[in-house]
Amino acid sequence: MDTDAEWGYVGDIGPSHWADLSREFCACGGSHQSPIDLPRRKATEGTIDLDIRYEKAIARLSYKSYGVQMTLDGGHIRVNGETYRLVQFHFHTPSEHRLAGVTFPGELHLVHVGESGHIVVLGIFLADGDAHPGLSPIWSAFPTVEATPPFPFNPAILLPDGREVYVYEGSLTTPPCTEDVTWLVMKQPIYLSDVQIENLTAVHAETNIHNNRPVQPLNDRDVDFLQPVTDPSPET
Ligand SMILES: [Zn+2]
Repeated sequence: MDTDAEWGYVGDIGPSHWADLSREFCACGGSHQSPIDLPRRKATEGTIDLDIRYEKAIARLSYKSYGVQMTLDGGHIRVNGETYRLVQFHFHTPSEHRLAGVTFPGELHLVHVGESGHIVVLGIFLADGDAHPGLSPIWSAFPTVEATPPFPFNPAILLPDGREVYVYEGSLTTPPCTEDVTWLVMKQPIYLSDVQIENLTAVHAETNIHNNRPVQPLNDRDVDFLQPVTDPSPET
């Protein structure tokens, strides 16, 4: 029972047991957890001032308990005037969030931290389609992820064209499942080929058959479906 408690996605260390594996994981039993099934019938509609300013940075590929991760200082996003720096992104197969009950082949999580320490995660579904050329620098490192030297990467290439987002307050989807995390999940997916999905799943399968936590109860939370607004006074 410690912070290094082993956890996974199946069996007696699987998601339904996380809260009991360590005192530090007790938030996993909380009432504002992620992921969730995003509702088709939107609870609230409105607008969001979302400005994504990713930039090329030296990225380090690694393999964590929850999957393939790229660590980089890759720019920032501004959400309603607050700035959050991108610190890492990683992948889940299949997706963790659902969209009106639908699970996607995968999900990308771009993790940002604000000055106060507040975490904002941008989630992007991975759907079946043509091969995504922007992923080649990462995928070419598979399966020997840890042996790959750092390389320059611009995460902007991972964004879909659309900027409509589902927004809600949730948690990290892996232990310690810390709450007070703001989720922005994009409605529009990005597309990967079958082979790309298979390759990613194969890397994850080294330790986990899948690395997606089941959806959690919404409880008393609202989910907003928000359209982007163009900042009327952009920075010069
Ligand atoms: Zn994640």
